Amino acid sequence: MNYFEEYCTKLVQSVGNKEGAISPNIVNSAAFAYGTPEIGEAIFNGSVKKPLYSRMGNPTSAHLESILAEMDDGIGAIATSSGMGATTLACMSLLSQGDEIISIGGLFGGTYSFFNETLSRFGITTHFFDVDSLDNIKKVINDNTKIIFLESVGNPNMRLPEIKKIATIANETGVILIVDNTITPLIIKPLELGADIVVYSTTKIISGNASALGGCAVFRAVNDGVDKLKSSRYSFLEKFIKKMGKMALIPNAKKRALRDFGMSPNANASYQTMLGLETLPLRLQRIVQSVEIVAKELDKNGFNLNHPSLTNHPHHGRYKNNFSQGCGPLLTIDMGTKEEAFKLLNKLKLATLSANIGDTRTLALHMASTIYSDFNDEEKIFLGISDGLIRISIGLESPQDIINDFLQAKGN
Ligand SMILES: *Cc1c(COP(=O)(O)O)cnc(C)c1O
Repeated sequence: MNYFEEYCTKLVQSVGNKEGAISPNIVNSAAFAYGTPEIGEAIFNGSVKKPLYSRMGNPTSAHLESILAEMDDGIGAIATSSGMGATTLACMSLLSQGDEIISIGGLFGGTYSFFNETLSRFGITTHFFDVDSLDNIKKVINDNTKIIFLESVGNPNMRLPEIKKIATIANETGVILIVDNTITPLIIKPLELGADIVVYSTTKIISGNASALGGCAVFRAVNDGVDKLKSSRYSFLEKFIKKMGKMALIPNAKKRALRDFGMSPNANASYQTMLGLETLPLRLQRIVQSVEIVAKELDKNGFNLNHPSLTNHPHHGRYKNNFSQGCGPLLTIDMGTKEEAFKLLNKLKLATLSANIGDTRTLALHMASTIYSDFNDEEKIFLGISDGLIRISIGLESPQDIINDFLQAKGN
C-alpha cells in the first residue's frame, strides 16, 4: 500500500484551518482558567472537555495528536517533549518493579540505555534479541513480561524485523507490542500489523528540519469483546477500561506517566511539528528514492555499504516484500577504522555532521565516538557499532550531488 499519495492530501487538509487563521493556532498558556468551581470540578473529573493544565494537555498539541492518531489508525495519541519522552511515557505507563521487557532489534542508543541502565535501577529487566531470534523470544516470555519493544528499522544496524510475525507472538502470548516507528512513518503502519502502541521521535523526519524536539505515542482502541488487555497481566487497566472503554490506554498513560513524569510537549514545538507534517509524504518519498540511488552508486564505487536495498543484504527479500516504499532515510558505510572514518568526514563538503536523522539536509556521523561512546565492546558488537561506522541520513539534495560529495571525500 502506498500511503504517500493519500497523505499528501490528508495531512495538508488536517493541519490547516478552513476558517479564520489557516495556520494552526498556538495556545501559549501553561495554565487555564475554569471560570466557576463547578466547571473546574467537571474538567478534573473528565465530564467537561476543556484544557486543565498544559502538563496534562494543550490545545495546540491536541491538534497534533489528532493528526498523528489518524495517520496511524489509532484511537488517540499523546504528544511528548521528545522521542525519548514518548518511549518513556509508553513504557512507564505499563511497568512496575519486577516486570520484564523484550527488546528486539538494533536499538537507538537512548532507548538502549533507558532499558539497560535506567530501568534496571528500578528492578525492571530487559532481554535483548536480534530481529531473527524469534524462537528464543517465545522462550523468555513469562507472567512478568509486560512489553515487547521493537524498532521498525534497526538504527544503525539496518536490519529489518518481520513486524507481523512478532505481533503474532505478542498477541498469542498476550503481551503488549510497542513499535518505535520514527524512521518509517507512512511506510509502516504498526497498528495495522498488530502492534498496540506506536512511538515516534517527531524531531526526526516528521518535523524534518531540526527546528523542534518532540515525540508522540499513538494508542490502539481496546476491543469491546475479548482483548488481551483485559487480562490479569494488565489488571491496572481494568478501572480505565470500565470508565473509558476503547480509549483506556490513553487515560492510563496520562495518569500513570504523563501527569507524574511530566514529559509534556510545548505548543510552539507542536506547531512546528505540524508544519513539518504537511510536507512529510513529499519529503519522505523523495528521500527513500534517493537513498536507493546513493546506496547503489556508493556500493559500486567501493564503499562498504549497508542498506537492505542492496541484493547482498541479508534482509533484501524482506525489504522488497514488507518495505516496498523504502525503509527511511538511513544507510551506513564502514570505513574500517576510526581514522579512515574521520578522514572522510573531514573532507565532506555537502554533508552536515550531526547526531540528528531525517533532516532536509544530508547528515553524517561517526557512531563509535559519539552516540555510542559510553558503550562497552560487547554492547557495541550487539548493536552493530564498528570502529569505522558512519551513519548517513539522506536529505533532499540532488542524489548525484550527495554521491559526488562522498566520492570526492574518498578521493575517487
Ligand atoms: C532520535 C530517536 C529517538 C529519540 O528521540 P528524541 O526526540 O531525540 O528524544 C528514539 N528512537 C529513534 C529510532 C530515534 O531515531
